[in-house]
Amino acid sequence: MRLLVTGGAGYVGSVCATVLLERGHEVVVVDDLSTGNADAVPTGAEFVEGDVAEVASSVLGDGSTEPRFDGVLHFAAQSLVGESVVAPEKYWRGNVVTTIELLEAMRVSRTPKLVFSSTAATYGEPERSPITETDPTRPTNPYGATKLAIDHAITSYANAYGLAATSLRYFNVAGAYRGAGENRVVETHLIPLVLQVALGQRDKISIFGTDWPTQDGTAVRDYIHVLDLAEAHLLALGAATPGTHSIYNLGSGAGFSVREVISACQRVTGLPIAVEDAPRRAGDPAVLIASSERAIADLGWRPEHTDLDEIVADAWEFLQQLGDRSHAHRG
Ligand code: UDP
Repeated sequence: MRLLVTGGAGYVGSVCATVLLERGHEVVVVDDLSTGNADAVPTGAEFVEGDVAEVASSVLGDGSTEPRFDGVLHFAAQSLVGESVVAPEKYWRGNVVTTIELLEAMRVSRTPKLVFSSTAATYGEPERSPITETDPTRPTNPYGATKLAIDHAITSYANAYGLAATSLRYFNVAGAYRGAGENRVVETHLIPLVLQVALGQRDKISIFGTDWPTQDGTAVRDYIHVLDLAEAHLLALGAATPGTHSIYNLGSGAGFSVREVISACQRVTGLPIAVEDAPRRAGDPAVLIASSERAIADLGWRPEHTDLDEIVADAWEFLQQLGDRSHAHRG
């Protein structure tokens, strides 16, 4: 297939683009490099630098010819929860308005398939665990609200225009694959932050809340290996049905506490990691665990890299290689 990957210079987009290329697909990446990194665009992909809202129609075409692409994987997004609270306009414009522009360009060019990066944040504070796709969606921050609004827009497009669409609701994505991994300028995610402490790039890791109603008092999350996530995108493309918008949760189905993650990082790196207890972070739920039963049943998906130490080891290898590369550049 010939596929457009928006956000292919970012973490999940670059890993998925790598896997698509390995499977023989043609990939065009669009990314404005606002948070992504040009070095992350995999070799073999064509790269168009630009804002999705501005370039989607010229890249996809005006509909006067056969569609240029078989589908779009839409990863490009603003994704910092805290920032979305203080600068919501950046999220409504950057996520919702941009995606409407993309949907319009897809409609005009008659591009048949879409896979969208949705999120567990669409559910908000869950009533029960694990979370299924039929549970209430009550996002507790603008980031989750914009992703949910987009999911609704996609449903309308599927119904009205026959789009074959899938939203994948990611839980906590982690790990790395073949030189593609998590490397943001502003890092907020637990595993890379803890590994930065091991690398000596950060003094200590703050544990946000030690009084949660969990086994060790720290918050529990469902960490999914980015390679398992990439496989789900491929399966979603294969299963996409015209006029249907399918929504799937994606997690490993097991929860690990913040302290368990830190212990795994200590085991994997063999290095001491300083921690401090800190207050809860606003808007954080105690436990977020996915039921991925629907993806397993409908897509035949199965998470294979569910071992926390394996996930951490892959992230660690990536960060070390990145350090070596930047030393090489400087040297
Ligand atoms: N967390 C933490 N210290 C940090 C960053 C994160 O204790 O410096 C906790 C956070 O409160 C949450 C878990 O680690 O319970 C995972 O957070 P992350 O930001 O990685 O993902 P989220 O679950 O917020 O999407």
